[in-house]
Amino acid sequence: MVTSFCEITQDEKQGRYLKTTQNVPEGSLILKEEPLVIGPEGVGVVFCFCCNKILNGVKIPVCPKCKTASVCNENCEGIWHSDNECDFFSKCSVQCGHFLVNSQIILPLRCLVFRNSNNQKWDELLKLESHLEKRRKCPVWKDIAINIEALFLNLGIISKVDVENELIQKICGILDINSFELRTNAFIDNYSSGPVHVLRGLYLKAALINHDCVGNTHLAIDDNYNLIIHASIDIPVGASVYFNYSNPLKGNNERRLILRQSKYFDCLCNRCLDPSELKTEISSLRCPRCKHGFVRPVNVDGSYNMWSCNTCQRDFSHSLVQSTIIEARALLNSLNISDIAEHEELLHKLLKTFSPNHFLLLEIKQNLIGLYTQSEPKVNKLRRKIELCEELLPLFRVVEPGLSRMQGITLYELQSARVLLAEKRVKNKEIDEKAFIEVLKDADSLLKQSIKHLLYEPKCSPEGRLCLECLGELKRIRSLMTELELSPCCNEVKSHRKKDKTSCLSEL
Ligand SMILES: [Zn+2]
Ligand SMILES: [Zn+2]
Ligand SMILES: [Zn+2]
Ligand SMILES: [Zn+2]
Repeated sequence: MVTSFCEITQDEKQGRYLKTTQNVPEGSLILKEEPLVIGPEGVGVVFCFCCNKILNGVKIPVCPKCKTASVCNENCEGIWHSDNECDFFSKCSVQCGHFLVNSQIILPLRCLVFRNSNNQKWDELLKLESHLEKRRKCPVWKDIAINIEALFLNLGIISKVDVENELIQKICGILDINSFELRTNAFIDNYSSGPVHVLRGLYLKAALINHDCVGNTHLAIDDNYNLIIHASIDIPVGASVYFNYSNPLKGNNERRLILRQSKYFDCLCNRCLDPSELKTEISSLRCPRCKHGFVRPVNVDGSYNMWSCNTCQRDFSHSLVQSTIIEARALLNSLNISDIAEHEELLHKLLKTFSPNHFLLLEIKQNLIGLYTQSEPKVNKLRRKIELCEELLPLFRVVEPGLSRMQGITLYELQSARVLLAEKRVKNKEIDEKAFIEVLKDADSLLKQSIKHLLYEPKCSPEGRLCLECLGELKRIRSLMTELELSPCCNEVKSHRKKDKTSCLSEL
């Protein structure tokens, strides 16, 4: 369902896309849609066609009606193996064994179900972008021809005419370009002790949303695999609705390469066309010559042959920059993932070569925040964690403005470290209650902001659970503040009379 805020429109430049029909305030629901098809990502994944659970074990049960679809048990009440699909499977000669050997065939096969069962959906599906011409020269074309098309032809699922019309290539192109990765909680829990497999889902309307490396929407998948899209910032009337398919913490080169390889287009958004990447310097190196300029790519719209310092104008070859990045990446990859000192040391080293916001350094900083969260809360560790959170937040606000998971999580981590540190300092009598109350007030405000960012997350997702944790923490902090403000010793602090301050803080 597209809400009244938007409509699907069409023009020559952008094709079909989603556009706002009025000013859309941040947080407004733009689209809620159920998937057309869901299926496992990757090869060699066995899953229940009814409930989407990943299946293990030697003997896999099958649907008692079609004797084809793998199921977790014969009475599974999951809704995803529809009567149409069951019927289709019974009529064609596909066997469960085919799915077990090659799970790649599941999504295209599920699309073919609509050919006879729902003309409207079938037509809408085939109207989606498939980039056939660009894919024709890629290895993926041959892979599909051998592993999917030939098998379907053999089994009589498609005809020779379908092969001539490149129907399966088209469907696979549509799936690759338009489907979303689904990481629902039910799915992750199922795999908490093993590798995390993901599902992919195709959504007919959401597929029309254009890409921009700084999107204006927030996207979530609920426990029923519905895709829910909210405006992440205020969007003016008549504007295009955008979603960021790429990782905002990667540099221009890296993001554009992934988009080119997986979505077959060159992104020309404001961030991609700006060598400073919206003044974040996410890809920039420090100038080895003048020492204070940033070395940025000169030609950003296609070729990256030269990099240049924005201060002394000295040029550097692309290959030199690339080899510097490759070398640093190798050091990063060889880090012991649980060793704080190793991370800090490498960060210190790389800061001499790269901008403080360089994507490699961002990776180290994020790892460090995680490590400091897990380690025992000593004063110096808490201070460092606070410092890192404070460094990252302004950057996150630029690359993922408005409602943002990254911001929500980091705000939570920041307040938690600040409160823990203040509690320690009160205990050590380094700060008085008045100062402590100020920290709590600040934490109150950070938690409210964090909740604002995380409110749109499905309740059972890790972020949704963090949102509940924020609410619990907010309650705790408020009752602590009330207690402190009402306590007589605190009033004494307020009137600047020095006395024993520990009395009302004994619970800490
Ligand atoms: Zn099941
Ligand atoms: Zn069946
Ligand atoms: Zn871009
Ligand atoms: Zn320079």
